[in-house]
Amino acid sequence: RLVTPEIRGDEIDSGMRPQTLDDFTGQAQARENLKVFIGAAKARNEALDHVLFVGPPGLGKTTLAQIMARELGVNFRATSGPVIAKAGDLAALLTNLEDRDVLFIDEIHRLNPAVEEVLYPAMEDYQLDLIIGEGPAARSVKIDLAKFTLVAATTRIGLLTTPLRDRFGIPVRLEFYTPQELELIVKRGARLLGIGMSDDGATEIAKRSRGTPRIAGRLLRRVRDFAIVAGDADIDAGLADRALRQLEVDSAGFDSLDRRYLKQIAMNFGGGPVGIETIAAALSEPRDAIEEIVEPYLIQNGYLQRTPRGRILTPIAFKHLGLAVPDNPNA
Ligand code: ADP
Repeated sequence: RLVTPEIRGDEIDSGMRPQTLDDFTGQAQARENLKVFIGAAKARNEALDHVLFVGPPGLGKTTLAQIMARELGVNFRATSGPVIAKAGDLAALLTNLEDRDVLFIDEIHRLNPAVEEVLYPAMEDYQLDLIIGEGPAARSVKIDLAKFTLVAATTRIGLLTTPLRDRFGIPVRLEFYTPQELELIVKRGARLLGIGMSDDGATEIAKRSRGTPRIAGRLLRRVRDFAIVAGDADIDAGLADRALRQLEVDSAGFDSLDRRYLKQIAMNFGGGPVGIETIAAALSEPRDAIEEIVEPYLIQNGYLQRTPRGRILTPIAFKHLGLAVPDNPNA
């Protein structure tokens, strides 16, 4: 899926990741706050308080974590919730940290509960409480840890346990980017990739990137491929539009899954309300992916409402699909 924000593969060596807070476009509020907290931690020569980034995939959580380590002048270690299978795995990571290092845990909501228990005292008191051995011979040992900073990211704050959530001193919510911000990101990307790009070309790609820098970067590279094959030196709005149509990214930036989702509710469920399980089954897609990837952008942009009775399409969703708006769409 071209506009799936969570696949990371094709950006590894693109060199498009911003390296400093000043280089990072958008998320003005988060950036300002982080700047203050980083400055204060450096002035006090202390570890920064633990940070939790919350927001849909591809908005820059990992990038900001890396930037924070760089601006703090400390080491950056990265892992992710599902990768830490046992308490011992986490212990190994934690005991290897130096003072003030940043440990980044992506998808923290997928941490195994037994591992989470070990994380609490580590975050609070910089101590590991480990049980060694089993049965009557089991004993607990305490190990002192370096004063590290945990930076965690989640796409699903609702799945985090309260005790874990409460241990982050600095919660940071990331928002979808505006088309103007994405336009700057597309232009910067084009410059870094050595692609000629007109203003209207950047506007076209930006407004079809679903508010997400990762998607903007991916669309930019795909449109570039079309430009190369077409023998065009520069990307303008016309070329971007043709390329994106060819890639089945429509005028709103929706791809085939978004459109299948909207059509399903419009045509088979009369616009809703319909439950998420029913939609997931009808689309043969995992519920998680729908809730995490498809719905947030549709809700944010007023195509969809999430109500206690189920999902409901709004009139602009019907219009976007080229369907008549039902007289009483939410009946
Ligand atoms: P997340 O961890 O939230 O899924 P990432 O930090 O991995 O997202 O960012 C996804 C991609 O988008 C990366 O390639 C990164 O370079 C790019 N990116 C994210 N935020 C920005 C930004 N503000 N400016 C430019 N590029 C960005």
